[in-house]
Amino acid sequence: MVIVRLLLWLLIFYVFFRLARFVGRTLATIRVLNQSARSTPTRSSAGDGHLIKDPQCGTYFLESEAVHAVIDGREYRFCCEKCRDAFLQERRKA
Ligand SMILES: [Zn+2]
Repeated sequence: MVIVRLLLWLLIFYVFFRLARFVGRTLATIRVLNQSARSTPTRSSAGDGHLIKDPQCGTYFLESEAVHAVIDGREYRFCCEKCRDAFLQERRKA
């Protein structure tokens, strides 16, 4: 009986260990995702692999692939030239 209980405890420890590792990895992934979503575009310090939001269409895209435009002294970044042109046009109308 003692051996059975010992094996049972070993099993519980094993499952717990696996679960802890899985949770740890999942939390790390979530933290990375939150960081990239929260990072707002800071001027010109272009870090590759950062996700930024297109002010025109709201899409998240890589900072390194951004289309730049300076409007009224502020730098804007867009996912494509189409969005930049549309944004400029709306600005001109307003
Ligand atoms: Zn866009």
